[in-house]
Amino acid sequence: MVQLSDFENLLHESVRIHGHLCPGQVLGVKMSMCGLREIGIIDPKGKDKKSLIVFVEIDRCATDAIQSVTGCSLGHRTMKFMDYGKMAATFVNLETGRAVRVIAKEDSRQKAKEFFS
Ligand SMILES: [Zn+2]
Repeated sequence: MVQLSDFENLLHESVRIHGHLCPGQVLGVKMSMCGLREIGIIDPKGKDKKSLIVFVEIDRCATDAIQSVTGCSLGHRTMKFMDYGKMAATFVNLETGRAVRVIAKEDSRQKAKEFFS
């Protein structure tokens, strides 16, 4: 199990799944790390698998990163797509009822680019 605090490894895995390194991967991984931490999910692909659902508002690169980190997907009905056109995702812990919406700020895309320049 990759630790949720291990940004480099999570990014590596998401790039492998998505096919390329892009700002969306950096943002999606960071958003997922933040969201899962806030709702108290530590093992999204293991013991917490049934406790997690994610509402994504992005149908772009970052969504693949969120799927990679959380293990949630449309096919498993654990990821729901809400077409609001925002760089945002809501992470819900079904066990505790705790939920958090994480938004990428306007300047975060530039910061994400700088990360791997
Ligand atoms: Zn991409």
